[in-house]
This record gives sequence, structure tokens and C-alpha cells, in this order.
Amino acid sequence: MSEILTPAAPVKSSPITWREGSPILDSRCPSGELEKRWTRHKDNLKLVAPHNKRKLEVIVVGAGLAGASAAATLGELGYNVKVFVYHNSPRRAHSIAAQGGINAAKNYRNDGDSVWRLFYDTIKGGDFRARESNVYRLAEVSVKIIDHCVAQGIPFAREYGGYLDTRSFGGAQLMRTFYARGQTGQQLLLGAYAALQRQVALGNVQVYYNHDVLDVVVEEGRARGIIVRNLITGELHRVAAHAVVLATGGYGNAYYLSTNAKLSNATAIWRAHKRGAYFGNPSFVQIHPTCIPQSGEYQSKLTLMSESLRNDGRVWVPRTPGDKRRPQDIPESERWYYLEEWYPSFGNLVPRDIASRAAKRVCDMGYGVGPTGRAVYLDFSDAIKRLGREVIYQRYGNLFEMYEEITGESPWETPMRIYPAVHYTMGGLWVDYNLMTNIEGLYAIGEANFSDHGANRLGASALMQGAGGWVLHSALYHRGLLGDAAFREAFHRYGGFCSG
Ligand SMILES: Cc1cc2nc3c(=O)[nH]c(=O)nc-3n(C[C@H](O)[C@H](O)[C@H](O)COP(=O)(O)OP(=O)(O)OC[C@H]3O[C@@H](n4cnc5c(N)ncnc54)[C@H](O)[C@@H]3O)c2cc1C
Repeated sequence: MSEILTPAAPVKSSPITWREGSPILDSRCPSGELEKRWTRHKDNLKLVAPHNKRKLEVIVVGAGLAGASAAATLGELGYNVKVFVYHNSPRRAHSIAAQGGINAAKNYRNDGDSVWRLFYDTIKGGDFRARESNVYRLAEVSVKIIDHCVAQGIPFAREYGGYLDTRSFGGAQLMRTFYARGQTGQQLLLGAYAALQRQVALGNVQVYYNHDVLDVVVEEGRARGIIVRNLITGELHRVAAHAVVLATGGYGNAYYLSTNAKLSNATAIWRAHKRGAYFGNPSFVQIHPTCIPQSGEYQSKLTLMSESLRNDGRVWVPRTPGDKRRPQDIPESERWYYLEEWYPSFGNLVPRDIASRAAKRVCDMGYGVGPTGRAVYLDFSDAIKRLGREVIYQRYGNLFEMYEEITGESPWETPMRIYPAVHYTMGGLWVDYNLMTNIEGLYAIGEANFSDHGANRLGASALMQGAGGWVLHSALYHRGLLGDAAFREAFHRYGGFCSG
């Protein structure tokens, strides 16, 4: 540690340079046919030879799904990687909370899915704000992500015959979401963590726990390193590197009550922004429709109930506003399945924003249930009758238990009460096709950036992008990720080893 960490000196701040009328940012997107862009881009990037990779140092901030998988990949490729996290273990990253699943255009069910359809749904789900080249690449690599995760040992749900099972998520009319009960994020993170630890054991990656990254060092327009505080000793250190990758998660906690862990504090991307990194789509925030409603004044966060529950749960409110009867006592004819009525082609699986707006609307109209009147029912009684308790338990057992633990009510006996909450931030640091911010050598991946998941109205795309940290290895192992300037600097520093 002492070798790389020296006491911090005050850092000169670089002013934010953007002014109205400044040139538009260069997204460095490849041109030509959408389907061939990623392949052509990879083929045209210059490689870094193995003996040279050892000489390049990369800092990865964050070891959630995005950071852990990217760091493991960079280590495997032979770069010198240093990971900084403020948690006492990468397993504490917020990715652990993800429940419902991860999308991939595998078309195992032969229900008409394809890379194109996943791309189209994602672009449409994101209100056409995401960058097409990036989203197409995400859909393309989604197929490999699942294979990679299976190879890592992620225990995805399987059907009787042994094939991977899938389910639907909001906004999609086919079943492309792979899942591990209601613990998909946890299982994926454990896989990424295992890969990371392997690299640690091999000496390619060093992980610094309990280290809070306070600032990004930018000199002459290039990211040169970071300033960190050791949370145990309180000491400040500066750490230099050829490239800095921020994988620090989203900024949902900018809203007081959100489904994010309170430790997801977004300070790293905010500080990068203060150093001149642009923000993209900051107001593009996802309000998730199925969260446990707020129950008290002193509550600091909300709990998500996975969207996968809308596969089998039916959303309703009593047809009479202010009806205080127990839900079990309200006959079928007096229940208003408003999503099924308003949106027959998607039913309960309408996109998240639509489901959220509809729940707020019926509550504003006085139909809301529960003590505050700001909740709607999510009812499994039909599904339990149709499929049996065992099947429902297999699909959602842990979510039912979690709900009961928090509310004291059993979803087996009475419908869940749910209400929308701030959940996911589709905005973030602006990045180009190589996932580099407008600051040379500073990269942002996972929920911290704005790009591919400018399209997460769908759900199950965030894990895809996070786990894609490793799949974007093609960007990582080429000069693309490290940036030409980093490369030039290393070239000068080490006396010229530039590979073709
Ligand atoms: C309850 C819940 C359920 C979800 N379910 C799903 C789902 O089913 N499917 C899906 O696709 N998506 C889901 N999501 C979204 C998805 O989980 C996240 O978008 C994704 O896991 C984010 O991963 P990440 O690696 O970018 O960030 P995180 O997992 O948040 O990791 C951030 C890392 O950065 C570190 N860090 C942050 N700031 C600093 C700093 N200043 N200094 C040092 N370290 C720092 C932290 O220690 C941590 O290691 C869900 C989200 C929530 C909240």
C-alpha cells in the first residue's frame, strides 16, 4: 500500500468547461450498419501486447457487479488493477439487492425473441434517448453474458429438463428474463466476486476495502488518479494510475426515500462532475411500481418488491373509493383490475413508468388502500389456485418471506400492498462508445454512467449492463478503454513499447 499511496497534496480544481454553444461531444460511435458496428470497432482497435499490459495501472472504484466484473476481467487480461471500495467487502455492494432477473436475447423459448427485438424494446423503453450503437451492442453481448455467468456457476433457475428457465418482465411481450429465484443480483455478484478474488489471489488485482474515494485527480484534462480516505485510520492518500474507472452506482438517494441502500451515496460521480465530467440525462429517474409503501415518518429507505411478481400477481383496487373492507371480503365483481382494463395487450406487465403513473392516478382518485390510502393490491390468489403453492413458492418464496417480515402480513393469505418509489437512475456520467467520459482516461460503467441504461424502463437491463462489465472486455483489452493519451503516456514513461 505504501508504495502506491503517498500523503495527499491539495489538488487544483479544473473548472467546468462546457458553455452553451460549445461543440457537441464526440460519442466515437462507429458508423455503418448497426449490426456490424461492434465487430468492426473491435477489429479496428489497436491491441496492447501482454508484456505491455503489465506496465499499465488501472484504478477501479467500486466492486458492485460492474466494478467487480470489470476489475476481474482487467486483471485476467494482465493489467495492474487496484480496486477501491468503501464497503468492508465487495459483497456489500448494492448489486446484492437486485432481485428479479437479467435480460438476454437467447430465445430459448422460441417465442420470437432476437437481438433486434431486445435492442428495439430497450430503445423504445428508454423513450428513444439511449444511444443506438451502445444499446445494440448491449443486446448483442447479452447472449454471451448468460453463458459466461453459467460458466461461473451462477445458479439460474432451470426447467424440469435442465434448460435455463425465463420469465417476463414489464414492457416485454416475451419471456427473456433469466433469474435465480428473487436473488439474481446476489448470485451474480457472488460470481463476479469469486472471479475478482481469483485475480486477487493471482496477484493481478489489489482490493482496498474501507476506502472512500473523495476526488478524481485531473491534470491537463486527463484523469491521473484519485484521492481516497482510509475510513479506519482517517488518512488521506493520493493514488496515480493510467486510467480511472468509476463503477460507483446510481444516485437514487438524491431522493430521500428510495429503494437504494443508504450507502449508495453517489458522491464519486458528483465529484467527477465537479472536475469537469459531464452528466447525461440527470432527470431520467425510474420510479418503480412495486415497492412496499412508506409506513412511518422516520423511515430512511423503501423496500422493493421485484417486478417479476407482476408475472403472476394481479394489480387491483376496490371499485368503490374508500372501501375499508378486508381484501378477502371484496367480491370479484367489486374489484377494479385497472391495468388489465386500461392496457389489455400488456396487462399487469406494462412498462414500469406506466404502472407507476397508473397506481398514483388511482390513489389520487381516492381508490388507494391501506392506512395511508397510498397503495394498491398485488394479489396472488388466482396464481396460487392455478399453479399451486409449490410453484409460486419456487418462483417467489424469498420475496414472500421478505414481505411478511417487513409488513407482518402473509402474501399467501392477503394481497401485498404496493406503491411506486424512486428506484433506478438512468442518467449518469456522460460516456462515449468506449465508456470514457469527456475527461480523457476517466471511464464510467454500470449504473454510474448514462449510456446503455438510458433505457431501463424495461427492467432487468441494469444487471445486463452491470454484468456486461466483463463482456466489454473487448473495449477493455484494446486501447479503447485505456485511451490513447494513457497509452502515449505509458509509452513515454516506459521508453516506447507501443504495440501495433
Ligand atoms: C432493490 C433493487 C432491486 C433491483 N433489481 C434488479 C433486477 O432484478 N434486474 C436488474 O437488471 N437490475 C436491478 N436493479 C438495478 C441493479 O441492481 C443496479 O443498477 C446494479 O446492480 C448497479 O450495479 P453497479 O455495479 O453499477 O453499482 P453498485 O452495486 O451500487 O456498486 C457500487 C460500488 O461502488 C462503491 N462506491 C461507491 N461510491 C464510492 C466511493 N466514493 N468510494 C469508494 N467506493 C465507492 C461501493 O462500495 C460499491 O462497491 C435493482 C436495484 C435495486 C435497488
